[in-house]
Amino acid sequence: MDIQNQAQSPSELIDRYRRRVSYLRISVTDRCDLRCVYCMSENMKFLPRESLLTLEEIIQVGRSFVDLGVHKIRITGGEPLHRRDILKVFRELGELDGLRELALTTNGTQLPKFAHELREAGVSRINVSLDTLRPDRYTAITRNGRIERVFAGLDAAQDAGFSRIKLNAVILKNRNHDEIHELVAFAIERGIDISFIEEMPLGVVGDHDRAECYYSSDQIREDLGAHYTLVPTAENTGGPSRYFRVPGVETRIGFISPHSHNFCETCNRVRLTSEGRLLLCLGQEHSVDLRRVVRGNPGDDEALKRAIVASMDIKPRGHDFNLHEAPVIFRHMNHTGG
Ligand code: SAM
Ligand code: SF4
Repeated sequence: MDIQNQAQSPSELIDRYRRRVSYLRISVTDRCDLRCVYCMSENMKFLPRESLLTLEEIIQVGRSFVDLGVHKIRITGGEPLHRRDILKVFRELGELDGLRELALTTNGTQLPKFAHELREAGVSRINVSLDTLRPDRYTAITRNGRIERVFAGLDAAQDAGFSRIKLNAVILKNRNHDEIHELVAFAIERGIDISFIEEMPLGVVGDHDRAECYYSSDQIREDLGAHYTLVPTAENTGGPSRYFRVPGVETRIGFISPHSHNFCETCNRVRLTSEGRLLLCLGQEHSVDLRRVVRGNPGDDEALKRAIVASMDIKPRGHDFNLHEAPVIFRHMNHTGG
């Protein structure tokens, strides 16, 4: 055994601010069947396929992070279920000792096809993006989607026996802010969770003025207060959501509030883009090119782990999103892996 390399691979990832990184999000593709107005511009250019990490490379990076103490991985995108043969990634990551949670964020349209196999592969949590219950609005927000497919996807996930399903809803003023109560009622009826997300200024989307469409988590909570009693909980899923419960029902209501309640102090995560760039913060450009490390040192997990450990030195203290200024982060959410 190479003692020097072993010494250089700690069992935990700790950054300069003493935060422990235990959660990796992997964007497996930047492509998607939808074009949500807050995520993409209408005419997105996608990456050439050869610049994406291969499935084997994704698995190698995931494995190395788990060796370094990461215990939660979320697969995201783009639309992850559109990547060819993606089940292989779920199956192999699902086998890793040390990985406590394998999660997926999806728009739900491919769940009728994949839900059962995802469950068999060891996926324990699924987040499904749904911002409205109205077919015409859904088509407008996604620029081309059909809401029946998401409903069918939710049915499939529930049939497959997933116990932790959560809706993710980005709320935009004058687009869907009047549906907050209906979305919660829908989640309660289905026995699933829901998180409301403040829009983040990633990339130029062209569709709307982000400052004008800003709808704060506090406002959402106030709106919900007219219909429900919200009781704060200490629950934490390892993410930035703050959770509330409605007495007597299972549904948890979460708020992801990058603007109104900065969550950087307790940040425990890093993100891998589909090209293999390790992003140390969602709202900053500090990154390390892990594709170069992987391809420059074929099959050498130790070299990869050293690069990951070293990256902790450049994880920034936090984001500084400002909706009133032109975006400073030019990558879109589908590149970033939301
Ligand atoms: N395609 C999958 C989906 O939609 O769930 C996974 C990728 S998508 C980029 C992940 C999450 O990011 C979704 O819940 C989406 O609503 C959210 N998202 C996209 N753009 C965003 C933005 N500008 N601000 C906040 N959330 C955003
Ligand atoms: Fe696609 Fe998800 Fe972005 Fe919508 S939010 S365009 S579904 S990647």
